[in-house]
Amino acid sequence: MALTIYDSMAREKRVFEPADPDRVTMYVCGPTVYSYAHIGNARSAVAFDLLYRVLRARYGADHVVYARNITDIDDKIIKAAAETGEPIDAITKKFADIYRADMGALGVIRPGLEPEATGHVGPMISMMERLIEKGAAYAAEGHVLFSVDAYADYGKLSGADRDEMIAGARVEVAPYKKSPADFVLWKPSKEGEPGWDSPWGRGRPGWHLECSVMIESELGETIDIHGGGQDLRFPHHENEIAQSACAHDGAPLARYWMHNGFLRMGADKMSKSLGNIVLAHDLLKDWHGEVVRWALLSAHYRQPLEWTEELLKQSKKQLDRFYRLLGEIPFTEETGAAPDSIMLALEDDLNTPEAFAGLHELRDIAGQVEGEARKKAISRLRDAGRLMGFFNEDPVEWKKFGVSIEDRSVLDKKVSEYDEARKNKNYQKSDQLRAEITMEYPVSIETTGGVTNWVFKPKTDSES
Ligand SMILES: [Zn+2]
Repeated sequence: MALTIYDSMAREKRVFEPADPDRVTMYVCGPTVYSYAHIGNARSAVAFDLLYRVLRARYGADHVVYARNITDIDDKIIKAAAETGEPIDAITKKFADIYRADMGALGVIRPGLEPEATGHVGPMISMMERLIEKGAAYAAEGHVLFSVDAYADYGKLSGADRDEMIAGARVEVAPYKKSPADFVLWKPSKEGEPGWDSPWGRGRPGWHLECSVMIESELGETIDIHGGGQDLRFPHHENEIAQSACAHDGAPLARYWMHNGFLRMGADKMSKSLGNIVLAHDLLKDWHGEVVRWALLSAHYRQPLEWTEELLKQSKKQLDRFYRLLGEIPFTEETGAAPDSIMLALEDDLNTPEAFAGLHELRDIAGQVEGEARKKAISRLRDAGRLMGFFNEDPVEWKKFGVSIEDRSVLDKKVSEYDEARKNKNYQKSDQLRAEITMEYPVSIETTGGVTNWVFKPKTDSES
């Protein structure tokens, strides 16, 4: 079967054929590390992680080269350092580590390459020199600017009207720009701001330049797939395309472009001004990463995703049902190839709704048989879920997620007292113990197959 993906540049689904099946290259714009990632950022990381998993399954893990950059120099970082008094490199290291840990909790496989902007200033200067030489960029008042007129296809990806884009840019037109749409590749650093020596004076790179340069140095002139959030199409990706094409004599930056849709908070856009920003880091305190991942993948990646508390609750409920079944066979980290039905769904432009339907079908099949056949069916189900980044938790741990180690031993003791009282038909005592336990701890008490145990229940989950 062919792998098809929706190419945002062609505006249609296309059969994916890598330039070299032994070295499939993909690049996704990564985080600016001055703060925590919000759930919209996480959606992008998870969507492209799913693509990465499909490509690895199809071409072999060693044949897919995935780079996701870390923007560790930016005005927002400089501002955060001024506000907190912390050194810039301490801030960027801290938030890069948190980003990796949070995405890891969401089941995102760490990309093989994570280039940092500050490690690529030399190659950035070299690209700017080439762009100036080719007449696509110019230096003015300590800045280097890209001349948008040098690239005839500017605006092709986003479909934005060129005149409109220029009119939009005119609002904040700087005196050193030849044309209002020209954008900054390099800008001077003030006293006390971080900067690097360059032929145009001490300064620092613009954000757009970073991605073109990292792709060139880490992956090559033309890559197979470039991904990112829909909001990055203009100006960021347009600018990346223009820079790279002009630096490489017209060679395209990417053969396929993929963009994930917006995440909305109910009916609203998530924004600082509305004060409705949800951080992945905060969600992961209350919810298992697989629950958040399930919620993020519940809509097709190109569709808008409406983020609600209810979505998380439903996702947990679904996963609980799967984990109950998974708990019937011994836990192992070993994973076999996923069943065809799941792979086929995902190879159709990451059709997650169909892949989820496939998981439900596999669960139904397993639920209908007994003995060895049941064990085999559950194992198949586990392989299917793991292709999508689920079912990696030990089912015993799954139930206890969210409860601290100290609380676990206290709970074990209290629950066995409760069970003892219940078995002795001392219902007054058992009722009292149950009330105590469920009021003091974020758990519920379950008896299955004659065994009583406690199960983690997030505080936010109001259902009993
Ligand atoms: Zn980028």
